[in-house]
Amino acid sequence: MDLLARLSNVPGVSGFEHEAQKLIADELRPYADELWTDRMGNVIALRKARKPSREKPYRLLYAAHIDEIGFMVAHIDARGFISFVPIGGFDPRTLPSHRVTVHGTAGEQPVTLQGVIPTKPGWMTDEEDRKRVIPIDELFVDTGLPAERVKAVVQVGDAISLSKQFEVLNDEIVTGRNFDDRIGSYALVDSFRRIEENTVDVYAVSTVQEEVGVRGVPTAAHAIGADICVAIDGSLPADIPFAKPNRDQCPIGGGTGIYLMDNRTIGDRDLLRGLMETCKRHSIPYQRNIGGGTDASAVQRAGLGAKATTIGAPTRYMHSTVQMCHIRDIQATADLLAYFPRYAHEILPDDWR
Ligand SMILES: [Zn+2]
Repeated sequence: MDLLARLSNVPGVSGFEHEAQKLIADELRPYADELWTDRMGNVIALRKARKPSREKPYRLLYAAHIDEIGFMVAHIDARGFISFVPIGGFDPRTLPSHRVTVHGTAGEQPVTLQGVIPTKPGWMTDEEDRKRVIPIDELFVDTGLPAERVKAVVQVGDAISLSKQFEVLNDEIVTGRNFDDRIGSYALVDSFRRIEENTVDVYAVSTVQEEVGVRGVPTAAHAIGADICVAIDGSLPADIPFAKPNRDQCPIGGGTGIYLMDNRTIGDRDLLRGLMETCKRHSIPYQRNIGGGTDASAVQRAGLGAKATTIGAPTRYMHSTVQMCHIRDIQATADLLAYFPRYAHEILPDDWR
């Protein structure tokens, strides 16, 4: 729970992942045979095959994206109010009344200012205002500070992250602003520490810039030349009153979701079978998911291509500040990733080319 909280609280807006990647690298390094950061900023940790199935071991790539959606400072007005542009897909309905952190600098030193994204006060609104969603380009950050204080440390181009911190909501139910995909980052780290008897080389990759269109992972995919890719991301639970009954899937608490298909990838049939077999062998709860779109797509079609799909804990309310997961699903995801490298070679022919 401590690791999950630390991973969930560290800021890492797309393109500004440095601090979060440092945390991930520190957590992976003691368990890695090799660890490096590539030119895009992806952190790559290798655990070599302990029981290789053939002379040149197959390569299994795990990808979890570290970046979270956020904003970039676009303008600071004469009174110190900060306008911003989105980094990643935000729903403007979810933004007013949230606390944010503005990541500025004093000289070379990083400094942060705390702020709020307000909504129009009730006494200023008319009938039309109350029905209207305020578009992002009309929203602003208010730090309460005079313009000279703001401008001393904040510049156009600085990142703004949401401030909401990790919380245990009830029993095994947890909530945070960025479980898409910090629950994946957690599963990546936790599983990597426990990999034993692996027949394949395992590359754990903490990727950057997924939220802005899967921009980070391609360089890592190119360098590794994976045979198999499992991306780790949130599954899409439709177990809430807003969902149509005929789309009901993947309730939280039901186990890790295995993606059959998403917007960018059709899950490889052999890999799906291999993942489900591993779950059965180790009594790991799993369920079938039809998902959104993940890093798996880019690895699947990089180089010669890889057998690819995605797994992950069902995550309610993704891309909002109240994302919700069940601890058991997060742990099931980590367990599957920890055990699968023992059997990964079984889904590939010995003479695959
Ligand atoms: Zn994601």
